Amino acid sequence: MISILSPKAHAKSAPAAFRMPFQFRPKAAAGLEAPVSAVPQQLLDDAAGQSSQLPAAPEIALSHVSKAYANGAPALLDINLTLKKGDFLFITGPSGAGKSTLLKLLYGQEKATEGNIFINGQDIANLRGNRLAMLRRRIGVVFQDYKLIPTRTVAENVAFVLHAQGFSRKEINRRLPVTLKMVGLQNKADRFPSQLSGGEQQRASIARAVVGTPPLLLADEPTGNLDGDNARQVINILRKLNSIGITVVVTTHDEPMVRSLSYPVLQIRGSRLYNFR
Ligand code: ADP
Repeated sequence: MISILSPKAHAKSAPAAFRMPFQFRPKAAAGLEAPVSAVPQQLLDDAAGQSSQLPAAPEIALSHVSKAYANGAPALLDINLTLKKGDFLFITGPSGAGKSTLLKLLYGQEKATEGNIFINGQDIANLRGNRLAMLRRRIGVVFQDYKLIPTRTVAENVAFVLHAQGFSRKEINRRLPVTLKMVGLQNKADRFPSQLSGGEQQRASIARAVVGTPPLLLADEPTGNLDGDNARQVINILRKLNSIGITVVVTTHDEPMVRSLSYPVLQIRGSRLYNFR
C-alpha cells in the first residue's frame, strides 16, 4: 500500500505520514510479455522466506523530508510517503525534478536536509558503518547508465555483488545461472558489457541488483536509454520481481509508459510529491 499526503493537507499534521488519505492498489498490467523466463524457483523460495539469507521486506516511511544540495534550490520539499512490502510504485516528473534524489535518500547515498526516513520503523539518519552497510545490502539499485564494470563479464559483474556480501561459492553458483536466466542472459554470461546491447546491459544490471534477493528494488530511469521493446522487457522483469514480493520503486520521465500500465504513479513537481492520477 502506498500513500502520500498532499503538501497542503500534511502541513497541519505532524506524524501524518502514517495516515492514508490516498491509497493505491496495484492492478495487474495487461499486454506486456517479454521473452525472458519466469522467476526461478530459487528466487521464489528465497522471496517466500525459505532462505535464511533473505531479510524481511522493509516498510518505508518518509516524513516531512526535504533535500537541498549545497548552493542549490531545494531538490525536494516536504515529501511524505509510505510504502509497504510488495508495493510497486512509479515516480515520474521531468528531468531535474528530484526523482534520483528521492531514490538516493532511500538507499542512503544522500542525507535528508530535513525530515525523517524510516525503514522498518528505524530512522536511517541514525545508521552508521555496519548498520548502514546492512541496510544497503537489502536494497538493489538499477541505474539508467547500468554502471557495469567494463573489464568484467556479465557473470563476473553479477557474481561480484555476492562475493562482496560474503556469499559462499556454492551459493553463488546456485544463484548466478537462475538469475541470468530470469533476465534472458544465460547465453551471454561470458560477454563483456561492451559486447551487449543497451537492453542486455540493463538486464545484466537488474540481475546484479536482485541476485542477492533484496526485498527492495530501486530503479532509477531504467528504461531511459532503451527503445520501446527493450523498455517493455525491463518493465516486465521488474513486474515479475514484484510478483514474488519484492517492493519496487521505479523513476521515469516516460509518462505515456506509466499511463499504459495500471500501477500507482506519483509525480514530483516543483520539488513536491503529488498524485499523478
Ligand atoms: P531527476 O532525477 O528528476 O532528473 P535529480 O534528483 O537528479 O532530478 O536532481 C534534482 C535537482 O537537484 C536538480 O536541480 C539537480 O541539478 C540538483 N542536483 C542533483 N544532484 C546534485 C548534486 N550532487 N549537487 C548539487 N545539485 C544536485
